[in-house]
Amino acid sequence: MVTTTDEGSRNKHDKNLENISDSAQLETLKVLKIYDNNLLHKYNMQNRTRIIYEKLHDDQIVTPGLDFLVYVQVYEPFNSAMNRIGRFFKHNLPILRIKSVISILGCQYLTDLREKIMCISDLSIATEVSKNPNQQSKFMAKDVYKSGFFFIEDTFYNDMRDPNNKDYSDVILKWAETRNKLGPFKTAKMENVRIDTLNVRFGFPWVYMHQGCCEHLIVLSDARLVTDDDDLSISTYPKIERIKPAAGKNCTMCGIHNVRWVVMEHDRVPHETSYFCENCFKSYNYVNGKKIGNFKAYRYPYITELMIENT
Ligand SMILES: [Zn+2]
Ligand SMILES: [Zn+2]
Repeated sequence: MVTTTDEGSRNKHDKNLENISDSAQLETLKVLKIYDNNLLHKYNMQNRTRIIYEKLHDDQIVTPGLDFLVYVQVYEPFNSAMNRIGRFFKHNLPILRIKSVISILGCQYLTDLREKIMCISDLSIATEVSKNPNQQSKFMAKDVYKSGFFFIEDTFYNDMRDPNNKDYSDVILKWAETRNKLGPFKTAKMENVRIDTLNVRFGFPWVYMHQGCCEHLIVLSDARLVTDDDDLSISTYPKIERIKPAAGKNCTMCGIHNVRWVVMEHDRVPHETSYFCENCFKSYNYVNGKKIGNFKAYRYPYITELMIENT
């Protein structure tokens, strides 16, 4: 079971930061303290919901003082090709926001990390179900399009667990070959790489790419030894330490409830694409369960951990 708390409660990791002495000489500790007090909570961590897990008890446990945890910040996706000045862009640069912070053990693999990265583009459902809206869609985008890579230092780590997966790095490598100053780059299989074998700079932005074009910056922000106070069960990790839920999109019809349906080519709606809550969708489009008129309907991806429900 998992519970969430608001930003008011501070966990052990934060308490450790409070214990850093003012006379500490280590530069990393001094900077960490400055960031913690002045920047981290004010900007980066604002509105992130901390996830608290019940402790599990299983046979496989990590050893305090020997095994270590790495903290990975995963940013919200952004389109690096965009170059417009608008609501989201100042000085032509996208505003980068941390979506989640994940802790992972050194003995775990990049694929374990990937499984914990939650992104709405993985959850899209492409099955048209207007004739039977109660039918449960079987496949989300992540079940169909499983390819993805991490780019860390000079290596593309491709997820090749499924034989049908595409090597997304291939086209980038070919493009880079035509530019003398880029590369050389290496490739490896994501599923073969343990976190503790990475030779990686902390605090530097790397890339996670999936669904063909959804790019996230990822930053390895911290690493520390596991202590007796941590959950020692290996199966607890990797775990999402914090996540920033997104505000739910409102229904086009009532403007009150969260969207549950994407409707296209509707002959009684003046928009090519419109968004319906469950109530409006059923009451406007069906009489006694029978579809009225012509339209296509797709379930809007919804996952409680990622979205804030309007009430
Ligand atoms: Zn994504
Ligand atoms: Zn509605």
